[in-house]
Amino acid sequence: MDGKAASEELVAALQVRVAALPFTPRLTFVRVGDDPASAYYVRSKERVARRVGVESETRVLPDGTTQDELLALVDELNRDPEVDGVLVQLPAPGVDELAVLEAIDPAKDVDGLHPLNVGRLWTGRPGPRPATPLGVAALADRYGVPLAGARAVVVGRSSLVGKPLAAMLLERDATVTLAHSRTLDLAALCREADVLVVAVGRPALVTREMVKPGAAVFDVGLSRVDGKVVGDVSPDVAEVAGWLTPMPGGTGLMTVAMVVANTVDAAVSRRGQGA
Ligand code: NAP
Repeated sequence: MDGKAASEELVAALQVRVAALPFTPRLTFVRVGDDPASAYYVRSKERVARRVGVESETRVLPDGTTQDELLALVDELNRDPEVDGVLVQLPAPGVDELAVLEAIDPAKDVDGLHPLNVGRLWTGRPGPRPATPLGVAALADRYGVPLAGARAVVVGRSSLVGKPLAAMLLERDATVTLAHSRTLDLAALCREADVLVVAVGRPALVTREMVKPGAAVFDVGLSRVDGKVVGDVSPDVAEVAGWLTPMPGGTGLMTVAMVVANTVDAAVSRRGQGA
């Protein structure tokens, strides 16, 4: 499954959509400190936002920023009528991350991580969905991976990836199992999966022997080994999988495009299509 091609299609569709709007959607990133990975992720999202016609700015707060200072900035952005989306790039050292996510106006929550939006996801109401699961679901749709009735195993249970993805697969009528570090006999569980999503951050955690022939495998994990980006899925899985996302060039590109898509959706619902 080609995440580059799929994300380029999404970007092209967003360009058309934004060009037809009578306003320019605006996305503000907030980042704390000098973490190079956070800076890289924000730059990637800014680049795609710019291509789509979404105006973006990044507010960088210094290391040592207190929780109150960060919350004050979030409050300022919540009140700014020109800002459609607020994304606090985590981790933010020394800060209660849940408190920050709770402080973002749910209507501007383009990461879909505010508890209200999490509740909307689990109760089947419309609302922003987290970008990485959205990207996985979009790839499954694009490549015709059957989800209804499929046995899906999601390895990793974070609020960012595993849990919301489980909800989204359930919504699409898959039978979902969430696995994690305490799961017994992960290999046997994975071998039963028609759809296997791996979001852990351990290179080559899933090997060929753990994959059912013909299964759809989505590699979300991302690590650096000898300066190279690698996923959680060993390359030899390609010999047995029916569908497989590459790393790089798979789920990561979709995540970036989906954050921008969420911003356009947020802008349209706040301002109205013809505002
Ligand atoms: P996280 O919060 O650290 O969660 C990792 C999950 O993996 C936890 O649920 C953990 O279990 C589980 N786990 C750890 N070791 C395991 C093992 N040996 N067997 C089975 N499960 C194990 O990470 P995250 O934020 O979800 O991110 C996961 C990975 O995806 C990271 O590499 C991250 O960089 C990457 N990522 C990629 C994208 C993308 O767009 N491709 C987006 C976001 C994140 P416990 O809950 O029991 O600790």
